[in-house]
Amino acid sequence: MEDQIGKAAEMLRESRYTTAFTGAGISVESGIPPFRGNDGIWEKYDPKVLEIAYFMENPVKSWTIIKEIFYDFFGLAKPNKAHLALAEMEKQGLLGRIITQNIDNLHQEAGSKEVFEFHGNSKRLICLGCRRRYILGTISLDHMPPTCFECGGLLKPDFVFFGEGIPQTALTASYEAASLSDVFLIIGTTGEVMPANQIPFLAKSAGSRIIEINTEPSHYTTQITDLFLQGKAGEVMEKLAGKLFTASLDND
Ligand code: NAD
Repeated sequence: MEDQIGKAAEMLRESRYTTAFTGAGISVESGIPPFRGNDGIWEKYDPKVLEIAYFMENPVKSWTIIKEIFYDFFGLAKPNKAHLALAEMEKQGLLGRIITQNIDNLHQEAGSKEVFEFHGNSKRLICLGCRRRYILGTISLDHMPPTCFECGGLLKPDFVFFGEGIPQTALTASYEAASLSDVFLIIGTTGEVMPANQIPFLAKSAGSRIIEINTEPSHYTTQITDLFLQGKAGEVMEKLAGKLFTASLDND
């Protein structure tokens, strides 16, 4: 493993432009479970609460579960060493941007600036009537469902529900990253969620080398990964950071 970390550090140092592509696995060490697998969120809850048609027909039922999962529980999470290492890599000019499938805002909380959210962000709400956006905290979640101050419309978390489209800015940023990157660093994703899962394949066919960090082999590992670093994102990224720079990765 030590050798492989050294090799990854060399690839990252030589790369002119690197993109990190992150999924739910990077936030597991922050205490947020992934959707799938043992202990995944869908073992306990029915994913239909995140279907847009169901949500619009049953806002109170959906919101009650959504609040429990994403606001009472996720809300307490803090960035871990993997988020902090990526933020430091950006600061040191070793990382161009992050494309994340996550909605937990932890990359931004770690200090990353160039973050493109493929599936939106749970820390914002959007009005389905007038499309006004609110920062979480300016709206009370004590009364369900929350509604818009401007038009009285239904508020929805500003992340992508099943049946909704991907934000255009994230799509554009992802295609651009796929075409210009020398190295794609995939962290903690099964690669099963469409259409986000296509981005690393596009990067590979445009000539990017692929480094992957995951506790388990994924959809990408045997197909496109050049260097697989098996392990927990926080632990592997801390070791990799140790080879790339001397800055400490403390979360305070
Ligand atoms: P996923 O749930 O399909 O897969 C998670 C992946 O992380 C798996 O491959 C697993 O082996 C790996 N993993 C687990 N623990 C890890 C660790 N400590 N270090 C490294 N890897 C680890 O996740 P996904 O592919 O990202 O897709 C699910 C979708 O659900 C995402 O698109 C995202 O929108 C959403 N989601 C987001 C969050 C979040 O914001 N934190 C949490 C759950 C789901």
